Amino acid sequence: MKHSHNAHCHNTLEQLNAYIDGELDPALCSLLEEHMENCEDCYIVYNTLQKTIELCRSDGEKISLPQDARQRLYAALKLEDDLTSEE
Ligand SMILES: [Zn+2]
Repeated sequence: MKHSHNAHCHNTLEQLNAYIDGELDPALCSLLEEHMENCEDCYIVYNTLQKTIELCRSDGEKISLPQDARQRLYAALKLEDDLTSEE
């Protein structure tokens, strides 16, 4: 039997870029923040993403996290199998 925890994580991770860019709907921001308060995995990804993006943004331009780095984060959290099976 499979619980829905990873589905929540999947949604959270999908929206993290927009969240960090401040482009996410305020209602969704609240949901993300709530999830991250209860999910250490997502919180760690959020922290890592934010630091990475801030480092790359030193010139003030918006960047997206490279796909490669993203996949490594997913793999580090062992979410990759779930993501793959959902697609
Ligand atoms: Zn999570």
